[in-house]
Amino acid sequence: MMEVSTAKCTLQPGEKPVRGRFAPSPSGRMHLGNVFCALIAWLSVRSAHGEMVLRVEDLDPDRCRPEYARQLEEDLLWLGLDWDEGGSRGGVCEPYYQSRCSEIYRSYYEILKQKNLLYPCFCSRAELHAAQAPHASDGQTVYSGRCRSLSREEAAHLAGVRAPAVRILVPDEVISFTDGHCGVCSQNLAKNCGDFIVRRSDGVFSYQLAVVVDDLRMGINQVARGRDLLSSTPRQLYLYRLFQGEAPSFYHIPLLLAPDGRRLSKREHDLDMGALRARFCPEELLGRLAFLAGLTDTKEPVRASELIPLFSWDKVPKQDIFVPVSLF
Ligand code: GLU
Repeated sequence: MMEVSTAKCTLQPGEKPVRGRFAPSPSGRMHLGNVFCALIAWLSVRSAHGEMVLRVEDLDPDRCRPEYARQLEEDLLWLGLDWDEGGSRGGVCEPYYQSRCSEIYRSYYEILKQKNLLYPCFCSRAELHAAQAPHASDGQTVYSGRCRSLSREEAAHLAGVRAPAVRILVPDEVISFTDGHCGVCSQNLAKNCGDFIVRRSDGVFSYQLAVVVDDLRMGINQVARGRDLLSSTPRQLYLYRLFQGEAPSFYHIPLLLAPDGRRLSKREHDLDMGALRARFCPEELLGRLAFLAGLTDTKEPVRASELIPLFSWDKVPKQDIFVPVSLF
């Protein structure tokens, strides 16, 4: 085990304490990539003496299950990654489960509606695929705007045939921000993304809307999450602006890649927490993750709390990380 040194408080007078979050989707057992992000997000908050919130992103009733949410808490605690409020602990910002927040999302959705920014979209998955505008450079799908100009009559007629999703108009404008880890990022929403969905055709509010509403109402000022969500950030910044809310600082964490360059995902069952816990004790697993994160030179076992004084964003690789097969 490593020496623990006491980290000094770095808060300047008048500076707000960091308030970060874990925002997992309980759609299966956590896998190595989720655990890696959870560890980095936790270290970023704890090394700044901040508060950690657990928000359960169980928006999608078809994919999320309460037993996965319970397991998730158990897995985080097994690793020693604790939180101050949220999940089954509750707290002052209830609800912490997105499945219980529909009325809150609806009130923010109404703000967008009042601004005349929403319109129904009747495109089916197949039509979206066929009518897709050219892909943006990162492979993101760009919505062509096909339903933007439907007349009231056409929309009413189509509504009798199928329930629409609801999209928000985006400006033809470059949205830039400085990511705390990746540096300056810019995206033109109209060109690289197109009008995006804020409510699905089954009435479920979209991830983009829900995540912004929740981070706002929970007073989150630091978002550390996987780099797969970097390209969502400009859409979210646009929503912060429309809600007149202060956006958090964003830190996007490199992804873990299999040796063949694929992103590790929940499909890799040999790397989910069930399999990992059967093979390793928490310290062994954390030692390997800390090594991948550039926090230590060896995969020596370590406790989560021992990593707090070692953490710095400067040590975390900027590029996605290949996971050597020999490590797990
Ligand atoms: N719930 C999302 C996920 O598990 C994370 C959302 C976020 O951090 O903004 O991928």
